[in-house]
Amino acid sequence: MTEAPTSDNQNCPPAGADMRCEYCHADTREAVVQSAFWTERGWMIVQEVPARVCEGCGEQFYSEATTRQLQELLDGSPAKAKRHVLVPVFSLARKSHTATRKMQRDGRVRFPGSSKTA
Ligand SMILES: [Zn+2]
Repeated sequence: MTEAPTSDNQNCPPAGADMRCEYCHADTREAVVQSAFWTERGWMIVQEVPARVCEGCGEQFYSEATTRQLQELLDGSPAKAKRHVLVPVFSLARKSHTATRKMQRDGRVRFPGSSKTA
């Protein structure tokens, strides 16, 4: 005997009022969110995602239908994206102390080893 599918034709989780966060058990509320997903092709951002957001820890939960839609988008062609953005990338990895770059008061970045103006 196979399990009956429970999510067909349902866009929202049932009994939405008492959905609790599976991590911290706080209440969740319906919201429309923007989410970023790390994929094998890099970061992808999806806007206007219907979700339930935990009021305790902020975790976002998606219905099965939404999850399917997200998966289709993330598996699909990036060329279909509304737009592309450049994002700044930082690191907290330790640098060698000789390779530090000094930010000067005027905002210019000086590269050690290049012209020494003193
Ligand atoms: Zn939570």
